[in-house]
Amino acid sequence: MRLKRELPPSGNRLPIRDILSCLGSSAPASQEVLRNSLTLLTGHDNAFLYSTGRAAMTALLTSMSAINTDSSRQFVVIPSYTCYSVPASVLKAGLRVLVCDIDPHTLDYDRTQLESLDWSTVLTIVSSNLYGIPNDLAYLEHLAHSNGAFMIDDAAQCLGATAFGRAVGSFGDAGILSFDKGKVVTSVNGGVIITSSSSLADRLTMEYSSVPSPSRVTLLAEIAKLFVYAIFLNPTLYWIPESLPFLRLGQTIYDDEFPTERYIDRLAAVVVPQLDRLEHLNNDRNSIASRYSFGTSEMGTLRNIGVSESAEPIYLRYPVRITNSRLRLNFLKSYRKLGCRASYPTCIVDIPGIEGKIAVHNDTCQAGRAVAGQLVTLPTHQFVTDRDIREICAGLSQLQGIPGQSHQTSVV
Ligand SMILES: *Cc1c(COP(=O)(O)O)cnc(C)c1O
Repeated sequence: MRLKRELPPSGNRLPIRDILSCLGSSAPASQEVLRNSLTLLTGHDNAFLYSTGRAAMTALLTSMSAINTDSSRQFVVIPSYTCYSVPASVLKAGLRVLVCDIDPHTLDYDRTQLESLDWSTVLTIVSSNLYGIPNDLAYLEHLAHSNGAFMIDDAAQCLGATAFGRAVGSFGDAGILSFDKGKVVTSVNGGVIITSSSSLADRLTMEYSSVPSPSRVTLLAEIAKLFVYAIFLNPTLYWIPESLPFLRLGQTIYDDEFPTERYIDRLAAVVVPQLDRLEHLNNDRNSIASRYSFGTSEMGTLRNIGVSESAEPIYLRYPVRITNSRLRLNFLKSYRKLGCRASYPTCIVDIPGIEGKIAVHNDTCQAGRAVAGQLVTLPTHQFVTDRDIREICAGLSQLQGIPGQSHQTSVV
């Protein structure tokens, strides 16, 4: 019998023995080890651990708002294409979202748009570093600080990458990490604020004392999720959760009603071993990614995403744009089983139900919309085999030979 095989779009192998050690470990000790690893990786000496990345982002924005003395600064600038949890966190923190368009070639902010913002109303700007590709973080940090705004370096997808020799997550005033299912390291759920700012750390320490600890039931549910994740991530079993519609795997749903709790300390027992092997994990991802990036970027209907020379990415997934929408849909259909996915289905301004809750700089988002309709991500995780890479590359090389639609879609 031939086993049915399907690849997830991303994910990390979790050894069962690490999950078992969550059950037995001494919780405060593992939390301490996790904090120390994060400090070593990012250089920040304060880490606050939350139930999710979005809970961490909400807490961080709330603290920034509390220590800010200028009441006209209510906006948080976010890119037009990023994780839906980012605008959700801003709204949950009671702040206002200001969407700024991206550069379709890099997925970083569009500099011209960014520089024409009214910075006097900006509290914070958030980087995105999607798929492990660092934004121009030194520029964002300088721009924010010279305009009296905070900067959050969102390293949810980029832990271990560097820009200008500095760790992604260490730019600006504080960094955000996520230990969600498809992230660089995972415990299915989890999020972290890292910071070296003493005023933020003091405020966060104060706020953290009233963040509830997860219940015993939550602990058991999370450990059960770890087992399910570890078992069903395997390519011979992944088709099972994929075929259960109530799990909504791979669907991106906007939700700004999430709870904020502390991280379950015991889950650190599965994260720490991944952090210890982080360089190795990321090198393996990059070596798979390097095999997808063939040819020049402007040939045919394919577009690679540009990486600045000062950046060392860690390809959590390998993003590529397919500018012909019919060919893109065909590609996604044919290569779904090999872990190829569309990523976020819409630009931030087109999230169903978000209209009226957000402000948009310059009222367009042409590039963000175009990217949402073009982007495809290719898998770089540990379950991808040589043969998978060859098959995906065969599909890509066909697309490369077909003329693109760049003459029709002017931005790209
Ligand atoms: C996943 C993610 C988040 C939020 O993290 P969760 O743990 O899923 O809440 C924030 N920003 C980016 C860029 C992400 O990819």
